Amino acid sequence: MTGRPLARCAGVTRRFGDFVAVRGVDLQVRPGEIVGLLGANGAGKTTLIKMLLGLLGTSDGTVELFGEPPSRRTRARIGYVPQTLGLYDDLTPAENLRFTAAAYGSGSGSSDLPAPLRRYAREVVGALPLGVQRRVAFAQALSHRPDLLILDEPTSGVDPLGRAELWDTIAAAAEAGAGVLVTTHYMEEAGECGRLVVMADGAVVASGTVSEIVGRSQVAVVEAESWSAAFDALTEAGLRVALSGRALRVPGAAPDRVRQALGDLTAGVRVAPATLEERFFELVAAGGEEA
Ligand code: ATP
Repeated sequence: MTGRPLARCAGVTRRFGDFVAVRGVDLQVRPGEIVGLLGANGAGKTTLIKMLLGLLGTSDGTVELFGEPPSRRTRARIGYVPQTLGLYDDLTPAENLRFTAAAYGSGSGSSDLPAPLRRYAREVVGALPLGVQRRVAFAQALSHRPDLLILDEPTSGVDPLGRAELWDTIAAAAEAGAGVLVTTHYMEEAGECGRLVVMADGAVVASGTVSEIVGRSQVAVVEAESWSAAFDALTEAGLRVALSGRALRVPGAAPDRVRQALGDLTAGVRVAPATLEERFFELVAAGGEEA
């Protein structure tokens, strides 16, 4: 992907007292690309976004939007959907959009509701289902045709169909040339991103495409005479176990450790390529140990 970065973090750190919420993060978002920011709860994603927006200062490192420090002017080129959506509950969708259009000083027509939202025109936002509220927040963030979209868990709590629609909107914005930075907890959505940045305990522990991140990573797969006895033995040994058909998958543990945990149980242990979710678990667990 070419083009000057729309957003750039270099060695960004944020401390709250002795606690380091974000440590030495490098990140860039270029025009037309969708960058997914993945991390468990508390990994530092929202804190990083707040620094990118200039709403929170950095303790160390530099943040640039469109090649300069964040400011009112640079923020005006951003469409931001916070986790809390940033809508006024007691205004209708159209009133919310008109209010933002006025605040951003964007031109006429930008406060028009997209067609699927028009049926909700007379209801206040607080009375609408969460999925619809998210679409209103999207419409609001996109109404001034931003160059950069920053979306903090935009699809959380939305049903699969609604999520697919929101991803269509995100992809369309990127195709039109906007850069997108999006956080998500849903691994199946990571595939919608051109590039991923994985955070654990404030630091970047991996970045690249899904296949670059998964790489040659493997998981132990257990086929046992009694899968329930094997499941109990593995969980008692402190391992994370997922049932897949009648087999058990154990990410982030060496096969020897798995065999040891199984003790005398009759079971076969082999290795298989890891999924992104399993690789993510492994990275987060390793990041946690290092921190
Ligand atoms: P989530 O997915 O839950 O939103 P996150 O990755 O966005 O998590 P952050 O909200 O950035 O994580 O929080 C990172 C860490 O920093 C957390 O442990 C949080 O408690 C801490 N933190 C965030 N803001 C402050 C603050 N103002 N003062 C002290 N600690 C804070």
